[in-house]
Amino acid sequence: MSLWGLLALFYIILAAASGGSAWFFLTHVLPGVVTGPDYIYLSWVVIGLVSLVLVCVAALFIALGRLIARPLHGLVAAMQAFAVSGTHTAIPVPHGAPHEMRALVGAFADMAQRIDTAHSHDAEISRVKSDFISTAAHQLRTPLTAIRWAIEALQKSGLTPDQTALVDNAVAKSKELVAIVGTLLDISSIESGKYQYKFAGVDLAKLAEGVARDFGHLANEKQVSLFFANDGKPVPPVRADEERITWILNNLVENAVRYTPAGGSVRVTLEASGDRVYLRVRDTGIGIPANERGNIFERFYRAGNAIAKENEGNGLGLYIARQIAVDHGGDLSFAANPEGPGTTFTLSIPVMH
Ligand code: ADP
Repeated sequence: MSLWGLLALFYIILAAASGGSAWFFLTHVLPGVVTGPDYIYLSWVVIGLVSLVLVCVAALFIALGRLIARPLHGLVAAMQAFAVSGTHTAIPVPHGAPHEMRALVGAFADMAQRIDTAHSHDAEISRVKSDFISTAAHQLRTPLTAIRWAIEALQKSGLTPDQTALVDNAVAKSKELVAIVGTLLDISSIESGKYQYKFAGVDLAKLAEGVARDFGHLANEKQVSLFFANDGKPVPPVRADEERITWILNNLVENAVRYTPAGGSVRVTLEASGDRVYLRVRDTGIGIPANERGNIFERFYRAGNAIAKENEGNGLGLYIARQIAVDHGGDLSFAANPEGPGTTFTLSIPVMH
């Protein structure tokens, strides 16, 4: 019930009680004291007095209601605006408003200010972290590339089989390092909003088919059947940065193949619905433990069962993939398969208008 409703209810109860008392006084008490013209005269005086009191009380309720309702409405509006945009505006409190109302409005303004300060502090820490990662990655890239070239040159210089095995391993590890540094650079530019996406109409069916083909070799090696099943249904082009979306698809398909034991399958499908295209990568793999699902999109997070199965991986792919999807106006989510083992990742991207 609103404040006005409550005051009106109070008022109706008060009016009924005073009307009832006046009626009882006029019909049962007054006739025993006076009669004739005096009775009529006094009756009018009593009715007049009761009406005057009721009018004054109504005026008092209206004034009180305004005094409380105005800042209360202001407070509700300010809270709603704060919840939506995180910014708060000054709430006008009329002169004479109750002390408690002033205290409430003051407490809200104080709390909003503190939250604001905490947010700016968090944003500042996050910016410093991003800058640090970006600087460190830039510094690491050049020497790492030089090391990689040097080892690759060594690889071709007539080594014994033992030396070749060692150097091959060093080349593979240095490639991994260069890739990690590249990912860190991507993360810092995407996180800081500096990444320049090149949006255009992209045919997801073509991309998905290409990615499924590219990972065919890895899937064969791991004895996992990998296929793209679009059922021939056409899907409209999406508004996307082709290179970045391919990066997401590579990540999702590679994860699905890596985290699926031999004999399992990975299926990539597409569906257009509303103004989005949904790309799903469904595997029959190890799944994501229920108690770890909330952390999967965090930076560097890897679930316990994934670490036990695959010691390669850095827990950055999904974090950055979701960020890219969101920057496209889409989303990336996952769910455990309801009918059997494994996981389905769903990427949604808005269609090109
Ligand atoms: P990485 O795979 O390099 O560890 P990602 O960011 O791509 O990093 O994935 C984060 C974690 O999410 C993985 O370590 C794994 O625990 C989980 N995960 C991702 N994809 C799958 C999948 N298809 N099946 C099971 N777990 C997965």
